[in-house]
Amino acid sequence: MASTIKCLIIGSGPAGYTAAIYASRAGLNPVMYMGGQPGGQLTTTTEVDNFPGYPQGVDGPTMMVDLENQAKRFGTDVRFGMVTKVDFSSQPKKVWIDGTTEILADSVIIATGASAKWLGLEGETTYNGLGVSACAVCDGFFYRNQTVAVVGAGDTAAEEASYLANLCTQVHLIVRRDEMRASLIMQERVKKNPKITIHWNSETEEILGDANGVTGIRIKNNVSQATEEIALTGFFVAIGHQPNTSIFKGQLDMDAQEYLITEKGTSKTNIPGVFACGDVQDSMYRQAVTAAGSGCMAALDAERWLAASNLH
Ligand code: NDP
Repeated sequence: MASTIKCLIIGSGPAGYTAAIYASRAGLNPVMYMGGQPGGQLTTTTEVDNFPGYPQGVDGPTMMVDLENQAKRFGTDVRFGMVTKVDFSSQPKKVWIDGTTEILADSVIIATGASAKWLGLEGETTYNGLGVSACAVCDGFFYRNQTVAVVGAGDTAAEEASYLANLCTQVHLIVRRDEMRASLIMQERVKKNPKITIHWNSETEEILGDANGVTGIRIKNNVSQATEEIALTGFFVAIGHQPNTSIFKGQLDMDAQEYLITEKGTSKTNIPGVFACGDVQDSMYRQAVTAAGSGCMAALDAERWLAASNLH
């Protein structure tokens, strides 16, 4: 077996890369496993206008490549691969990559983020990749000059509806209440866009389709109970996220929504030498900049713990 890694970073979003930059510069020789979505959720975003230091904004994928290059510049060993199992009961900790390779790590920084939630409709599985998507930026291109729907009422849904309105003939925004949760500026953008039709108090009952994919949806007004069929070819779900913590169940403390619990004001989990940063431990702020800040904290916490444990 290969030698023990001093600092293993799981996940490659802003939290993981910031932890990598700090850990590299501290001489911890970090190894990062990028996970199933290299670059994380920001790779599915168009404009990031709120990250300090980019006065003209930056697109998500560009920012993630910048972060990766910055981490590599200081020596982070960035590897493809998915952590599929962990055993934090012994020191060094054991971690398995892609179901087979076992590696050992003195300290672990978890930055696995969160993934898109689904409505639970049968059609989401049947037509995944055939009209159903959770990422307008990834898939919107395929629906140019067509009619699509977006489900949700948060900033993500508002952003996706606006993005799709630039490509598509018409965008139906399906909102389950009589108001949106999105920030006012995003709401205004959606409401003013003539290509976006908002269906208030509405829920999707069924995704309709044939062998070629999605052909429409049936929505129901939850006040009047009236149903309506809308012909469309693309159905985008934007209803929030689930933290990526399933492999840590039974080992790390989690809250009711399965976000990792960290000691207040730190990145420490309930296992010494295991730290968490970014969206995997943050259901409240979930911003690139807060994720980056917590990644810095995790690297500093790991460095101090390794030093105190005579491992660095
Ligand atoms: P949110 O949790 O903020 O919103 C989820 C939305 O989906 C809510 O409006 C919710 O409705 C709706 N929803 C949930 N479940 C269902 C369901 N089963 N059927 C129909 N609708 C449902 O998630 P987001 O992904 O939008 O945003 C997450 C965080 O990221 C937020 O803090 C947001 O501000 C931030 N963000 C910021 C951006 C930016 O600044 N550019 C861009 C994107 C996200 P209800 O309101 O009724 O609960």
